Amino acid sequence: MKYLLPLFLFASALLLAPAQAQPMASDNKMARPLGEVLNRVEQQFGVRFKYNVDTTGLVLNYADSRIRPYSLDETLRNILSVFDFKAWDQGKGIYKIKPYEYPRRYDEDGEKMVNYLNTLYSNKEEWEARRVALRREVRERLGIDPLLEKCVPVQPILGKMRRYDGYMVQNIALETLPGYYVCGSIYLPNNKIAKKAVATRDGRYPVIICPNGHWADGRYNRDLQVRFATLARMGAICISYDTFGWGESELQVGKDAHQSSLAHTYQALCGERLLDYALTRRDVDAARVGANGGSGGGTHAVLLATIDDRFTALCPVASVCSHFDGGCPCESGMPIQYSQGGTCNIELAATFAPKPMRLIGDDGDWTHTYPTIEEPYVRRIYGFYGAEDQLSVFFEENGRHDFKIKKRIAVYSFFMDVWSLPTECMNEELATIEAYDKLFSFGGAQDAEGRWYPTGETAPANFETNVKNLVEQNFDQEGKQLYFDLRWAAGLEEKADEWTASLNLGDAQKAKRVRGYIFDHLKAVTKWHNEHPGQTTVPHGINPRTGERLRPVDLDIIADGAQPRAYHDSIMAQLRRELTEEQVEQVLDKYTIGKVAFTMKGYHDIVPEMTAEEDSVCLTYLKEAREAAIDYKSMKEISEIFGIAKDKCELYFNTHGRNWRQMYSDYVKKRRAEKN
Ligand code: ZN
Repeated sequence: MKYLLPLFLFASALLLAPAQAQPMASDNKMARPLGEVLNRVEQQFGVRFKYNVDTTGLVLNYADSRIRPYSLDETLRNILSVFDFKAWDQGKGIYKIKPYEYPRRYDEDGEKMVNYLNTLYSNKEEWEARRVALRREVRERLGIDPLLEKCVPVQPILGKMRRYDGYMVQNIALETLPGYYVCGSIYLPNNKIAKKAVATRDGRYPVIICPNGHWADGRYNRDLQVRFATLARMGAICISYDTFGWGESELQVGKDAHQSSLAHTYQALCGERLLDYALTRRDVDAARVGANGGSGGGTHAVLLATIDDRFTALCPVASVCSHFDGGCPCESGMPIQYSQGGTCNIELAATFAPKPMRLIGDDGDWTHTYPTIEEPYVRRIYGFYGAEDQLSVFFEENGRHDFKIKKRIAVYSFFMDVWSLPTECMNEELATIEAYDKLFSFGGAQDAEGRWYPTGETAPANFETNVKNLVEQNFDQEGKQLYFDLRWAAGLEEKADEWTASLNLGDAQKAKRVRGYIFDHLKAVTKWHNEHPGQTTVPHGINPRTGERLRPVDLDIIADGAQPRAYHDSIMAQLRRELTEEQVEQVLDKYTIGKVAFTMKGYHDIVPEMTAEEDSVCLTYLKEAREAAIDYKSMKEISEIFGIAKDKCELYFNTHGRNWRQMYSDYVKKRRAEKN
């Protein structure tokens, strides 16, 4: 049903274009500026809106018809969904209006989700069938196996050992895919008490793989260093490593690569390879393997434990729940959440049952629903095994989204319970906070062209610094498709950079904003295009103009034409706010590879003594087409949009004393004669 309207509009455009010499005054569709409509809703319902979106220039059709006097929720849904926005209740009558976020849902949706999941299994057998299928499909959807096959054998580059009070730290760089390294630090126990209490007879300690979230400074963050040091003093080896595009990984793939689905897979791959390495060490006990991290690091701890049975203890902090998949593509970029018809992070965490798990949450972030939604849900599953005692939940009241002392103590006490770590070694004050560069394996500097290169003594010769190569060299056709996102993002970035540079704005801040607007728009349009292929999402029908079946490009135009209007309205409003009209036109010409000027030149060549009026009419049609065409992804589609404008121009000639066919054939003859 969704596509009937655009189908109709497009069909009408095809049908009407030749017959309609002048643009018709259109129905105003009861349109009103979005900002004005929302002001009215504020008054009517006595609420206040805060904006995370730009409503400048956005117009809402049939505005008043969307208001439901009896329901603010329905009213907001009707209004905001048009622009792909969502409202979030902040309490005290304040609502925040944000862009739609695919990984984030309302608390009620989380509750509905676990209620639904609970209907799928009511005993251990039913649950295990789901669990096995889920774990297998998550692994597949993550696309990690083809990459693991391409990884080079484990050969760690280890740095000098640094000795502190009761523990040691050593940096590690491990080559994963050829030429790409995961860099991190290993925190090792080094005291008699821990050795006696924790090590096996042959000197093996438990190990904890510690993926990191998006805390300021990544793994160099103070809260994180304290935790790794303290756990190591207590007898657990901790391996902390850079997330994709952060820390030393930035040297190889750049910062922006983090915002890609590739980060999701690659980070999991780093955790897997570091565990592979850990299990080759003589001081690691393969029977005691933990995963622990906070926020995005918690999401990854759960992901690792979901795809790998070697983990025996799991402790995600301020992360997984039923209504949020993790807001970064490194947590939710690959479509693992749609496994087995739809899952959520808390179900993935539950697949760890009956092994020991502690969930750590607080009332200040999205884990605030632990007591009401997630804990009862996971407890039921542990109950299938009679293993409720293996699940514990620490919930911080008056807390916030952090990894501060209360949560760290909850982590220490969990691993104390599971592995009998000695309480007397738990003393954060004895942890040494190291400077950034001490934690670097290679360290880096930039060359004259801004490219990074490693500077450390141990820096390898094959150190790659191009993320595009990583994708091109390591993914098969299917994999490449999966990682299309990253490749197009890189290509779109280049476009946004180049187009912005061509404006010579001379104001770095302004250029940065303009580049951002163009990049976001290109990304939105391309993403829509990729997710709505005309061939499969649009009913195949007849083109009323030609009487022939709709061609693939027609289907694509119809599918792309259904994208939210806000994509177009936002970029135009943003460009017009920042740029002169002439500069806006330059940007539009970039989108459409100069088709307006090119086509106009053609008319001037073909039409003898073209009049100023003819020039102006054609230019108007072509400029309309140019602005419409920026929302279409492929050059084929853009050419089709211009084709409709060209039909209109030619019709204008024909209805104003000219004969287009004759002029064109004269022109072709003339050109031929010139050639001969
Ligand atoms: Zn991330």
